[in-house]
Amino acid sequence: MFEAGWGIGGEAWKWRQRLFAWEEELVLGCVGKLANIFLQVDEVDRWVWKLHSSQSYFVKSAYSYLSASETRISDSFDRFLWLKSVPLKVNIFVWSLFLNRLPTKDNLQKRGSIDDHQLLCSALCGFSEDLNHLFFQCPVYGQLWLVISKWLGISTVLHGVVEAHSIQFCGLGGASKGSTKVFTIIWISVLYVIWRDRNIRIFKSVHESIDKLAERVKLQTFWWLKSSYILFDFDYLGWQQNPWNCFQAVV
Ligand SMILES: [Zn+2]
Repeated sequence: MFEAGWGIGGEAWKWRQRLFAWEEELVLGCVGKLANIFLQVDEVDRWVWKLHSSQSYFVKSAYSYLSASETRISDSFDRFLWLKSVPLKVNIFVWSLFLNRLPTKDNLQKRGSIDDHQLLCSALCGFSEDLNHLFFQCPVYGQLWLVISKWLGISTVLHGVVEAHSIQFCGLGGASKGSTKVFTIIWISVLYVIWRDRNIRIFKSVHESIDKLAERVKLQTFWWLKSSYILFDFDYLGWQQNPWNCFQAVV
């Protein structure tokens, strides 16, 4: 890339397809970051972690940096963050969500990356997309919450904003620690499936059915739980047909 030229208009930035406006913004950010970097032929490449004096990566240094971040997330949301049973990229997604730092359309508009007429929700429901709409108020993705609630044997009207929704949904598992944890993991999985589907709709123009998304939530949570809890030795059919039976394996 360096040899091809990574300055503005450089050959390294030639693409086969035309970029979206928000992608162009990312490229510009990347060009800016690389502007003062000059590679030397005799130097061997290596990773450098700037948040620790040893220049090596430690989870603790990343955690200290994140928890000292300007915008503090309320302590009551700690239980949704940095879960061991959830992949790191999903934990980062949840953290960004609570800070409202996901590139939802309203956030992209605030940064000037898209115009007013591009604000419509990707689920084609006719409303504008912001965090609470996309995940908790959208009539299309709201169907996913209904299907998942039905799977769990729950019938209730869910809140429309992230803070109240998270507390309400994760409390529906009852008083046991294990079921609260499973409900928290399912809550995160639904959000992640919505986010992925929204991105696939935007970038690949593929629309999946709500039943397919619900199946993805069940499968995703099954594997997250299976890979983290040794007592969770149920097969997928058991999980799919009676999730409550499997809760006792999570402690
Ligand atoms: Zn919508």
